[in-house]
Amino acid sequence: MEPLKYLAGYPPHLQARVRELIGQGRLGPMLAEKYGQGHAVRNDGQLYAYVQALKDRHLRQSVPLGKVVYDGRLQVVKHALGTHTAVSRVHGGRLKASREIRIASVFRDAPAEFLKMIAVHELAHLKEYEHNKAFYQLCTHMEPDYLQLEFDLRLYLTHLELGPPA
Ligand SMILES: [Zn+2]
Repeated sequence: MEPLKYLAGYPPHLQARVRELIGQGRLGPMLAEKYGQGHAVRNDGQLYAYVQALKDRHLRQSVPLGKVVYDGRLQVVKHALGTHTAVSRVHGGRLKASREIRIASVFRDAPAEFLKMIAVHELAHLKEYEHNKAFYQLCTHMEPDYLQLEFDLRLYLTHLELGPPA
């Protein structure tokens, strides 16, 4: 059986449940029902304004933002979310030093909730480098549903990768 790469690190029973949903063709409809709304953040200028507004609301005291851009080369799990269990160092000192936020372009057409989730994730990295407890506390401070959204985002990415039903 092919591994569910976006869900590596989650318990086997959860992965089994997701496989079941996929097998029954229910994952896509379930996500569409729960996350029906897209968003209007189409370009890098709008993305900057969007992330800045979130930062003003929740993290006013932290370092100023540098560039904020959509990046077509980013792989969400490898570069942004890490593997959930392991402490991830994938962000790299370079990005952190320049306070540059890169958001994978898959989020341009993703539901609004997932754009907010990833923006919150990247903003939290302005203060916490690692995916540690303090990091996730910061995420849930900015977005109370953060953990559910991160899980559902992984479902969404799994679904996208499966492609349209044959
Ligand atoms: Zn991260």
